[in-house]
Amino acid sequence: MRFKDLKIFQKNINLDKQTPALFLDRDGVLIKDNHYISDPKRVKLELGVMDLLRFAKKNGWITIVITNQSGIGRGYFNWADYDDVTKKMLSEISESDLIAAIFANSFVSSDSENSWRKPGTGMIMESLKYFNINLQKSILVGDRITDLQSGVNAGISNLVHLLTGHGMTERESVLKYMKNDFFYFKDKKSNIKLFDNLDELLASKSL
Ligand SMILES: [Mg+2]
Repeated sequence: MRFKDLKIFQKNINLDKQTPALFLDRDGVLIKDNHYISDPKRVKLELGVMDLLRFAKKNGWITIVITNQSGIGRGYFNWADYDDVTKKMLSEISESDLIAAIFANSFVSSDSENSWRKPGTGMIMESLKYFNINLQKSILVGDRITDLQSGVNAGISNLVHLLTGHGMTERESVLKYMKNDFFYFKDKKSNIKLFDNLDELLASKSL
């Protein structure tokens, strides 16, 4: 039984120097959230993805995708379907060096703080084994509150919540965790910015 999946695309990143990472959720951030997507034909990039990925790369950021895929654990689709969706997504992006790694898990619940399933920190912590990432300078972008909680838990200093994907329905709960420009979770806090979509994030010059 496979619960976790890890694809590393950039093995030769300079590990001597700490690098800021752009942690992107997949469904609702990188690609359109098509409810437990398993058909590659339904893969569509979200608005502004390419510009953001290119900008990040040009400015020395590495982009890491972290995605919960509980549809596998629930038996709605399998890892082979997931692989097909990943292939299609990468072919849509087409420029192979824009994404450094993709982490995925099929868990249906997050039973510990270090679970790979967000809000657990497992996928972010795992990425630190492969890349020399400066979490204080990194940004995590998500449409769900669990994305943001995972980022705070892991010590990522900057969070972004979007209205794409499930963002519209989650925004109200996100606001409840916020005070001024901070997002609080348990005994930790991170800076947070709210945008409609990735285009607005790029235009904000946050990177
Ligand atoms: Mg999402």
